[in-house]
Amino acid sequence: MSDVQAPALLPNDPPGWSDLPAGWVGVFNAAVAYLDENLEGWRVVQVKQKYAALRIYYDEPEGTDRDTVRRVSRAIDEILAESERTCEVCGRPGALDQSNRYWWRSVCEEHRGSIETPEAELRWREGTDGPA
Ligand SMILES: [Zn+2]
Repeated sequence: MSDVQAPALLPNDPPGWSDLPAGWVGVFNAAVAYLDENLEGWRVVQVKQKYAALRIYYDEPEGTDRDTVRRVSRAIDEILAESERTCEVCGRPGALDQSNRYWWRSVCEEHRGSIETPEAELRWREGTDGPA
């Protein structure tokens, strides 16, 4: 798979930005496209990987009705759930890999256990009691 996609542009620079795994760009772009179509004026708050899944946190425009908020939230959850079945490295079908006890990932067979936890992540974990 040499056709690496570029991530969709976000409506603002999210604070606390974390890397978007290359294999999840397709899932990310689908979520952004849905938000662009269904929630005019949305603004991203944070994008991150959590428990081997892609998370996008966003604010809806002030005054958005509750039904819209719920409908969009459910749709985004469904779109992002695809990241749990997608290899974060290459984008092929994947599954949960718990071989690193501190860092669960969604990866294909080829990338299972292939990447160690980055230094920065390890340092952070050693300096604290772990993630909140
Ligand atoms: Zn893979």
